Amino acid sequence: MRVAGKLAVAGRSAAPQRPGGIDAAAVRRRLLAWYTRARRDLPWRGSRDPYLVWVSEVMLQQTQVERVREFFLRFTRRFPTVAALAAAREDEVLRLWEGLGYYRRARQLHAAARLVVADHGGEFPRTLEGLRGLPGVGRYTAGAIASIALDVPAPIVEANSRRVIARLAGHDRPVGGAGDEPIWEIAAALVSRTAPGSFNQALMDLGALVCTPDRPLCGRCPLQALCAAQCSGRVAVIPVMVAARPARKIRERALVTRHGDRVLVERRGPGAWWEGLWDFPRVAPAEAKTAEARRLGVVTYTVTHHKVTCGVLERRVRRVTKPGPGQRWVAIGRLGSLAMTAPGRRIAALLARD
Ligand code: SF4
Repeated sequence: MRVAGKLAVAGRSAAPQRPGGIDAAAVRRRLLAWYTRARRDLPWRGSRDPYLVWVSEVMLQQTQVERVREFFLRFTRRFPTVAALAAAREDEVLRLWEGLGYYRRARQLHAAARLVVADHGGEFPRTLEGLRGLPGVGRYTAGAIASIALDVPAPIVEANSRRVIARLAGHDRPVGGAGDEPIWEIAAALVSRTAPGSFNQALMDLGALVCTPDRPLCGRCPLQALCAAQCSGRVAVIPVMVAARPARKIRERALVTRHGDRVLVERRGPGAWWEGLWDFPRVAPAEAKTAEARRLGVVTYTVTHHKVTCGVLERRVRRVTKPGPGQRWVAIGRLGSLAMTAPGRRIAALLARD
């Protein structure tokens, strides 16, 4: 994979020696030495291909590393290059993403691949600004691609690195959202100018393996002597997280209309949760009452800040009716080949069991 444009050098200017009170030179030295011997063996490690770094980073947003391994290998086997992804149908991209959740990421990845091919001749932009111009590439993802694939000393802040930096600096104000701004500033001053990709990955690995949210292994930490939280006995209270919004409870009804072994499915429209994926139509309580349907079961699921309880009804019909907009009849045995929402897949499992 080649990359286009001029190499961004933002951040090569002199950085503070003690950002957030941290001895930056000592942290870089010790962290990089620790990374050489303790880094995680992950399928995307070792690659400097911006496309592979990008796919892995997008998958890692909101998803555990162990879960991403298998998806990453499957996805990049099918789409080994940005051109292959750009040429794919959205249905297939969503199908390969199924199980990872947050499908907006997949749609934006696909749209960005098409943009890289159409507007950049298949070559990734080489600046942070250029990368951030791609759909779905925010500050974190741009920093990860720029530092790991392009050697740009760009900072990254995600859950692991945020925790490590907050503890190193003894930062006891709330983090997350706007509260992350001081952490970004420290990260920008801290990142290694000579090995930014390794440094950023080392921060994330240290957060995942040693400086864990609960019971961090400070006795085994290469940064113990440099850590303000550890030296002041405040490890258990840093970082200070903003309280999460309580989940909103919702009830809904899914109606499975069935003729023989065929069922009516519906594609989720623009702006809906799981946009572009297939599911069974939802109906209003009044419609459910008049549908002469029998109760098939209940599925519960969580999406964004909502906890949903979905009653599943089944209505058998004597003839195949004309599907409504965005709907189609599908054999139950072929539901597996459709890109389906998480609740849709669970309703399909209820049907298979029935
Ligand atoms: Fe985290 Fe403990 Fe290391 Fe500080 S000493 S960075 S709290 S593991």
